[in-house]
Amino acid sequence: MYNPKSLKAEEFISHEEILSTLEYADKNKDNLELIDEIIAKAKERKGLSHREASVLLACDNEEKIKEIYALAEQIKKDFYGNRIVMFAPLYLSNYCVNGCVYCPYHLKNKHIARKKLTQEEIEKEVIALQDMGHKRLAIEAGEDPVNNPIEYILESIKTIYAIKHKNGAIRRVNVNIAATTVENYRKLKDAGIGTYILFQETYHKESYEQLHPTGPKHDYAYHTEAMDRAMEGGIDDVGLGVLFGLELYRYEFAGLLMHAEHLEAVHGVGPHTISVPRLKKADDIDPDQFDNGISDEIFEKICALIRISVPYTGMIISTRESQAVREKVIKLGVSQISGASRTSVGGYTEEERPHDSEQFDVSDQRTLDEVVRWLMEMGYIPSFCTACYREGRTGDRFMSLCKAGQIQNCCHPNALMTLKEFLMDYASPETREIGEKIIEEELSNIPKDKVREICKENLVNIANGKRDFRF
Ligand code: SAM
Repeated sequence: MYNPKSLKAEEFISHEEILSTLEYADKNKDNLELIDEIIAKAKERKGLSHREASVLLACDNEEKIKEIYALAEQIKKDFYGNRIVMFAPLYLSNYCVNGCVYCPYHLKNKHIARKKLTQEEIEKEVIALQDMGHKRLAIEAGEDPVNNPIEYILESIKTIYAIKHKNGAIRRVNVNIAATTVENYRKLKDAGIGTYILFQETYHKESYEQLHPTGPKHDYAYHTEAMDRAMEGGIDDVGLGVLFGLELYRYEFAGLLMHAEHLEAVHGVGPHTISVPRLKKADDIDPDQFDNGISDEIFEKICALIRISVPYTGMIISTRESQAVREKVIKLGVSQISGASRTSVGGYTEEERPHDSEQFDVSDQRTLDEVVRWLMEMGYIPSFCTACYREGRTGDRFMSLCKAGQIQNCCHPNALMTLKEFLMDYASPETREIGEKIIEEELSNIPKDKVREICKENLVNIANGKRDFRF
């Protein structure tokens, strides 16, 4: 029944295979010989299967967990250096016809303020985001064929890319909208989107159907097979995710890795990113209604294990998490974070953070300048780079760049140049001072002399007012 190459949801995410994986993991959770073998395999940096990774997740031997964390940190350093890519979500509309029981946008929620941005309002939101320094957005919308049809999403993307305000520009728009048709995915691809993101929410079919009792999202197979349709439509950067808290985390973890294995087996390229959202309090939603919430410790372990299981996949964390949790998981493997997010429709143009149309409570409420400074104080380089997809390095071409070890000659100078733009245009004097010092120090970490020289020249050009250099 289990077949990673199948295009049928219930065959590539096989319930029986997950149950047997969990049984195997339980049986072997104290089998130190096997655990050592799995860790040794992970050290080769070629990833782990869902079965192997599940054994490590079940293992509670402190020494071994320490070893796993150290390896996750090392793999993170080897593949992503000390760069952290920055983005912000932009909520276009919270009209939704689905009945997702954990989401405040659900159809039956009659007291949430429903809003859909007009193109003029989008322009204002984007200018506010550009004025903070953002270059990369993830657009978000509820599912509503009447209020938010694909034409609305496409028009909004066009509007976003067209806004040129001062030195601002949104250079990459990722899209997080409901599962759709191959034809619509092709339209999104043609509109120039970066990653198509769709959270599975839960891989457990029975729970999935109960958690999505009404609306088009109820269809488990249609939702689970969405990434295959997106790939068929030409989108080769797709982002997976599970909403932790809905189902048992070990089940979700195995399902998530099986999904990644399926994409690799069928399309020859795994997920571009994996997101790890945790269920949060929201209007009409009390997370305590759900019994599967996970502790910060388990959450960290999951992040570390994703890092060593799929080393080439970026990992995203949002402002659902607090500063303290973000600090820990950035070290263990997260490569992309949002900053200064507002999860309400139209929230960026409001003086005060509005709560009436928010999708969930935001834990990390700092400004982008504060987040950037905090990252640099911890030794990271906040990166506003969007070069890869603009240079056509998507899907397996991006993966080859990683595999050829060229990241340090490409991503590193791009990170420094985009950080320099941020410092020149948006940073507070304090942030700028720290940033200039970091850029100076980090130049020596560009291996190729020629690349380093060009990067230095470009930094001078940026200081003189030029923008948008990339390798
Ligand atoms: N409507 C789209 C869909 O059907 O996939 C996606 C957009 S939705 C705005 C983005 C994500 O927010 C959802 O996929 C879900 O995982 C997450 N979400 C919903 N309710 C949440 C809550 N109470 N706490 C945290 N995340 C939540």
